[in-house]
Amino acid sequence: MPAQTRTVAGPEISFEFFPAKTEKGAESLLQTSRTLAGFGPRFMSVTYGAGGSTRDRTLSTLKDMVRETGVPMAGHLTCVGASKGEVEAVARAYWDAGVKHIVALRGDPPPEANGVYTPHPQGYVGAVDLIEGLRKIAPFEISVAAYPEAHPAALSPEADLAHLKAKLDAGGDRAITQFFFEASTFLRFRDRAARIGITKPIVPGILPIGSVAQAWKFADMCGASVPAWMRDLFDGLDERPQTRALVAATVADRLCQELRAEGVEHFHFYTLNHADTSYALCRLQGRNMQSS
Ligand SMILES: Cc1cc2nc3c(=O)[nH]c(=O)nc-3n(C[C@H](O)[C@H](O)[C@H](O)COP(=O)(O)OP(=O)(O)OC[C@H]3O[C@@H](n4cnc5c(N)ncnc54)[C@H](O)[C@@H]3O)c2cc1C
Repeated sequence: MPAQTRTVAGPEISFEFFPAKTEKGAESLLQTSRTLAGFGPRFMSVTYGAGGSTRDRTLSTLKDMVRETGVPMAGHLTCVGASKGEVEAVARAYWDAGVKHIVALRGDPPPEANGVYTPHPQGYVGAVDLIEGLRKIAPFEISVAAYPEAHPAALSPEADLAHLKAKLDAGGDRAITQFFFEASTFLRFRDRAARIGITKPIVPGILPIGSVAQAWKFADMCGASVPAWMRDLFDGLDERPQTRALVAATVADRLCQELRAEGVEHFHFYTLNHADTSYALCRLQGRNMQSS
């Protein structure tokens, strides 16, 4: 069959990956990104390991994906533990590699800091300062992080939301949320954001469950609540990976459908570097491959 170009339908999508640890993992990740690139995502992003631990691998993964997929890439970048000069060097390397979009983050304090963030003596004070700094380096598109259930270190949900507004007012173009499992969690957050005058897009981050044990651990760490019905549904499924994948796609699709019914038009998928569940989710949202 000759290749045919189809119209891309469905909501906008973006995909998030993390840099692989081995050469074999990097090759498999590149294959995953090539596969998902066929859905014509708005962008694909690559995370920046805690405290900049994956700086070089993040950059090389971004370069590979720019070259191999042609999709606009976004590089995550944190300012924890780094001087302004070090952050600027990474941002310039992104720009020179064709990565014109940054997911700008403060980052987590190191484990020995017991959750207390202290800026580097020559560094950015926090995310707002970082965003203002990046704006001076180059005309990057900038996404920022948002927390529908509030960041675990937030003084209050109100202070957390006001801080999100400050990040967007400082130059963030959109917010991407931490994952959550109930549509109402996102919708309430979106309403509260609108009430304090946030007008920029808030894109829900959707996590299709991979390893169940790991998903509940991540949720615990980042303050995302796991409804009892979901714990029951996934109970024991780590022993049945194929069933788990079917259930994960079904549950994530239901969440997307509920959000779409409320006008959500862009989903950011946490792929966990696997193509299959995100692939299924895109198809379920009516998203076709650009060519076949
Ligand atoms: C979409 C997304 C992508 C991510 N990617 C990465 C990644 O690639 N690498 C990585 O290491 N981590 C990543 N993280 C995690 C992130 O680094 C942590 O959640 C970190 O603790 C906070 O970073 P931030 O940019 O959200 O910080 P901020 O929003 O600046 O601060 C976190 C919270 O602290 C409070 N706060 C901070 N400063 C103020 C202030 N001045 N006034 C009032 N309240 C304040 C607010 O409640 C705020 O929500 C990501 C998170 C999300 C949601």
